[in-house]
Amino acid sequence: MSKQVIGAGIRGANVVVDRVEGKINAAIEKYGKDQAVALPNTAYYLPVIYGITGEKVETLGDMLPIMEKCRQLLADVPVDNCWTPYLGPGLDSGMAALFAFDMEEALKYLGDDCPYLASKEDPEETDADIWLGAADDIILRKRGVEFVDGSAPGFAVIVGAASNPEAAAKIAKELQEKSIYVFMASNNEKGTSFAKQLVEAGVQIGWNTRLVPFGFDHPSAIHGVGFAVRAALTFGGKTPGDHVGVLKYIKDRIFAFIIALGPVCDEQYAAACGAINFGVPTIADTDFPQVLPTGVCTYEHVVTNIPESEIVTKAIEVRGLKITISKIDIPMPYGPAFEGERIKKDAMHVELGGPKSFGFEFAYSKPLDQVEDGKFTVIGPNIKDVEEGGLLPIGIWIELAGRKFQEDFEPILERQCHHLLNGAEGILHIGQRDIVWMRISKKAVAAGFTFEHFGTILHAKMHNEFGAIVDKVQVTIITDADEVNKRMEICRKTWTERDNRLSDMNDETTETFYSCSLCQSFAPTHVCVVTPERPGLCGAYNWLDCRASYEINEHGPNQPIAKGDVMDERLGKWKGVDEFVIPASGNAFESFAAYSILVDPMTSCGCFEAIAACLFAANGIMVVDRDYSGETPCGMGFSTLAGSVGGGLQTPGFVGISKFYIGSKKFISAEGGIKRLCWLPKALKEASKDMIDARGAEVGIPNLYDMIATEENGTDEETIMAFLTEAGHPCLEMEQLMEMM
Ligand code: SF4
Ligand code: ZN
Repeated sequence: MSKQVIGAGIRGANVVVDRVEGKINAAIEKYGKDQAVALPNTAYYLPVIYGITGEKVETLGDMLPIMEKCRQLLADVPVDNCWTPYLGPGLDSGMAALFAFDMEEALKYLGDDCPYLASKEDPEETDADIWLGAADDIILRKRGVEFVDGSAPGFAVIVGAASNPEAAAKIAKELQEKSIYVFMASNNEKGTSFAKQLVEAGVQIGWNTRLVPFGFDHPSAIHGVGFAVRAALTFGGKTPGDHVGVLKYIKDRIFAFIIALGPVCDEQYAAACGAINFGVPTIADTDFPQVLPTGVCTYEHVVTNIPESEIVTKAIEVRGLKITISKIDIPMPYGPAFEGERIKKDAMHVELGGPKSFGFEFAYSKPLDQVEDGKFTVIGPNIKDVEEGGLLPIGIWIELAGRKFQEDFEPILERQCHHLLNGAEGILHIGQRDIVWMRISKKAVAAGFTFEHFGTILHAKMHNEFGAIVDKVQVTIITDADEVNKRMEICRKTWTERDNRLSDMNDETTETFYSCSLCQSFAPTHVCVVTPERPGLCGAYNWLDCRASYEINEHGPNQPIAKGDVMDERLGKWKGVDEFVIPASGNAFESFAAYSILVDPMTSCGCFEAIAACLFAANGIMVVDRDYSGETPCGMGFSTLAGSVGGGLQTPGFVGISKFYIGSKKFISAEGGIKRLCWLPKALKEASKDMIDARGAEVGIPNLYDMIATEENGTDEETIMAFLTEAGHPCLEMEQLMEMM
């Protein structure tokens, strides 16, 4: 482990404590023990000491017992100058160094040569120097609240200096863009500091630009810690001296980290060791041994040898900082108001995927180091390459990573594409998985839209809405037909695996179902009730997905439904389900049956993968999916059917379903289930063969597959009747559908 770091930290802490003791003694000599000491305009005394120990240092004399405490905490410098078996002595010594720094800074305010522009928010050009020193309580209140309400995700303490002013400006900008405060202190061996480099590069510094120059020497970094401690006391309601509470609050609520640029000296090691106590990790661009996770911290304490250009990303990753992106950087407006927008043919510049082409959207997760956050790539023609009225295949390939990410979350994030992309004016998005269909308006293209902007939107919104689980989002947009096809294979394989995860669960033994109201932006009365044996009609959300989604966001669109007493087992009606769904649909309906197509069927929004429809003459049920564009025996093609079934209505005789549901034991089981299935488009039938064979065998009709008609056998009821009779289809012998209504 990390012996050198800890050893050097202990060594540095000894030096600091010795030095500060000397300064205190000299000050007492000069001013006497009763001389008042304080940081400017604060009710928190010397904040680090006050927060951790509860001791109020008000005079020079009050510093003496604190000095005692430092001595107790301080470990002896290890004999061979670096070796120590535990982190403990290093952490305690680091804490001693922080207490000493706290006092050393207070001493600077004694006398006339205070190096700080006390109580100023920004240095001005007329000021002799740039250093602000400790923030007073007014600044603390104004700024600290931003850490609590989330408008500032955290702060970085930058010590040392970058390789040059331009590199410093770049690091600062990267942090500013993420709304992170930058506290600057200390200098490097060349006598320059990060803050001075920023000034040199023409960057405006001060609290107002969130680039705060604390001080030129090492001890001034303590104002970062002091700020965090005061925030814990003010906003966290922690009691001074409740050191566990204060440390924990800072670790959990104030996401801070140290970026060490350039060679690190013993004194800085000491400060880094002190910071570990607060859960504040140090990320350095130089090479020295790392300190990996121990104790309550699940992340690294000291990470080294990170190139300057990657240090911000790495720091955010280590500290698990949640970034929100306030402005989505696209050339058109964005907001929920645009979600329901339609784009007619003559307003459209290009159509992507859909019935005339093909496409997919797909999200999956990878290890953190294999995803580059914010990287957007286009493979194939971009928008400038397509003429007005053009058509392209589309693949939206999303790679996700996060420390808390679970594979179970993949489908949920994937399903967000619909509502996230629809939020942009000029983008219409329909469908999911391999039935996506999009249109981009002429207006959006004129404003400067390119396919990379799909990435911009998904990246920003996924960070904002799923920050708790997502740390990195990388997006590839594919419009090259071969590449779309190639990746489609991978997607389909994954979707099948996702669909099959549920195979051992059933509705009877599950007490909790889930609702899905994601589609209410389009179909305000629509609610999907998702049970283990009945996935959402879009096919993209099954019971596990809804459960995971609820885990991510308990106020989100997927709510648990305690199914309660059974009202009708055959129809699939439960008291709890009705009690939930009726208000959730805006009281548009009186009752919901999960398993029936005829009695109170579920509503259909518009995303259904397929539609089931009763064929009364044949006494059976047909299913048609989106990919089939021909006629069907019910007299309507898919799009006509979709028009009359969708929109959040209950339409007895018709119901929107997912393709996977065909293989469920609960597939329209109220009306006899799979035995009723008498017509499918050929392609869908072939794709569903395994499911149909398995279910056919279960219901005692192993050759059911051969009895199901397709368009090759006919597209009107009369013709297929002949086929069904010939094949001996079981539906002909079943109870009359007409009489079951
Ligand atoms: Fe949710 Fe149903 Fe819409 Fe799928 S179709 S997203 S399950 S409401
Ligand atoms: Zn829908």
